[in-house]
Amino acid sequence: CNTFLQNRGTNVFSIMTSLSVEHSSVNLGQGFPDEEGPDEMKRRAGSALLEHNNQYPPMPGLPELRQAVARHSAAQSGIEADWQTETLITVGATEALTSAFMGLLNEGDEVIIFDPQYDAYIPLCRAHGGIPVEVKLNTEDWTVPHAELEAAFSERTKAIVVNSPHNPTGKVFSVEDLSFIADLCQKWNVYAILDEVYEHLVFKGSRHVSMRSLPGMRERCIRIGSAGKTFSLTAWKVGWMTGPPALMKAVTSAHQFITFTVASSLQRAVAYGLDEESSFYLGLGASLQRKRQFLEQQLTEVGFRVLPAQGTYFLVADIRPLLKSDAAEDDVAFCKRLTMEAGVTALPVSAFYASSDPPRHLARFCFCKDDSKLEAASASLRRYF
Ligand code: PMP
Ligand code: GLN
Repeated sequence: CNTFLQNRGTNVFSIMTSLSVEHSSVNLGQGFPDEEGPDEMKRRAGSALLEHNNQYPPMPGLPELRQAVARHSAAQSGIEADWQTETLITVGATEALTSAFMGLLNEGDEVIIFDPQYDAYIPLCRAHGGIPVEVKLNTEDWTVPHAELEAAFSERTKAIVVNSPHNPTGKVFSVEDLSFIADLCQKWNVYAILDEVYEHLVFKGSRHVSMRSLPGMRERCIRIGSAGKTFSLTAWKVGWMTGPPALMKAVTSAHQFITFTVASSLQRAVAYGLDEESSFYLGLGASLQRKRQFLEQQLTEVGFRVLPAQGTYFLVADIRPLLKSDAAEDDVAFCKRLTMEAGVTALPVSAFYASSDPPRHLARFCFCKDDSKLEAASASLRRYF
């Protein structure tokens, strides 16, 4: 096994989903929505398989999808993108991240990554010669620790990863957060890899701002999006990237050796969706906020303390009031007990930390589920606690 993958074993999503299946629990662990994106997109993907040839599409993506991605960037984020030099289509956001690390990093380059974090960043960074430098968000309210972040930057820093809206916390980085980070990027000549897969999953009162739209950041930032999140079609694995031509050239060069291209039937359907199904993705925030409010209230009544969040379909709760008092129970043991005894699966947030000494009192619940499932989960928790 490659040294960077040693000891990592199977990731928390697969482990907890298997445990959930084994115990027939309500799975609020792995993030995938019950309600899938527009039927018309599925129909178009199906007919594209029959009506078009099924040979390699162009390496950087079908022009119609690249053009749709450029229009989406301009319309939704106010960032103009030239489709020929500033867009790339990838196999999900996962391949976009891989291409970004492979395309931008040289051996020994440092990459600043906030903790907690999506689990793919560290192995991908390391596998491409990078050295991750973790900066822990404040575990009370997920604020950015300014002094620690400032101290993490140096002439060795090549890039920073900013995932907003953020998995697993649900934090939407404020303009003040982003401006603080952007100033440091400019001071130290650092690139930013912006994982914005949850860009449309934002609650009322908050607003997603892309760091690429801030003054001086257009030439430093690569943005990543995903049809899996934008259209609740996680199986499709269609992603996209936008960024300045010089960076996109490097990233595209990596992409040609990783996957080379992406299923054309799905690309056609996503191109249609970005242009014509905006009501689907623009409606996600409100429908998810209602589900979050329901689950937050239920969990609070059972005894959890729910942490604040402004977006995504994840909710983090403090489990300390419900830990077994007679045993040294941590978040991993608690989430297993919850699955096996209470019939509800959540994920231990310590699994999202790379730095040593992670908090062990937090669990992540995914709430993009049918109301009946959320109701069943709350009823089970009430019976158990
Ligand atoms: N980044 C984050 C923050 C995610 O939560 C996910 C979800 N799986 C991904 C990237 C990967 O997205 P995709 O399924 O499009 O590869
Ligand atoms: N992004 C999803 C989550 O955080 C699923 C990731 C996965 O299964 N690899 O739950």
